[in-house]
Amino acid sequence: MKEVIKAIGNVFISMPKGLFVTFKHLFIKPVTLDYPKQKNPMSPRYRGKHYLERYDDGTERCVCCGLCAAACPADAIYMEPDETEKGERCAKVYEINLLRCIFCGFCEEACPEEAIFLGQEYEFSAGDRDSFIWTKEEMLVQHPRKDNPLKRVIRRVRKVYGVTDKVK
Ligand code: SF4
Ligand code: SF4
Repeated sequence: MKEVIKAIGNVFISMPKGLFVTFKHLFIKPVTLDYPKQKNPMSPRYRGKHYLERYDDGTERCVCCGLCAAACPADAIYMEPDETEKGERCAKVYEINLLRCIFCGFCEEACPEEAIFLGQEYEFSAGDRDSFIWTKEEMLVQHPRKDNPLKRVIRRVRKVYGVTDKVK
């Protein structure tokens, strides 16, 4: 008889209690995201994938001076110089080894041409080591740019005023 009463108690007291806990979560904002459809914005201080900047006419800003490689504490940057048809110095090869890179941002700080910057992209996992050697072609920003040009202005202003915000 005791067990019957206990079972009835479970049905009319314990189960509704449990269902109430479930039900009340229907009205609470979820803490999880439907990744990759939804993405959390990264912290403004986050340093992600490197990009090589261009001038407005599309020419590359990098002059292969080597200052970024000299500043890199992880020895992650490799480059070979070349000359354009106009006789201007440029990079024939510019590579960053992501397996060495510690995303410190020293390369960005050292660059006198504002040619390299670390964006906010973090989705660059790969299954083989070679994919972690980023080439110049992979890092050069698109020309013409598809993103909002206002972002470039904001990034420039932030750099000038020493704010470490990174905007791709
Ligand atoms: S972020 Fe730091 S470790 Fe990575 S390439 Fe630049 S200087 Fe080197
Ligand atoms: S990215 Fe900047 S610092 Fe590095 S080689 Fe090019 S111009 Fe020089």
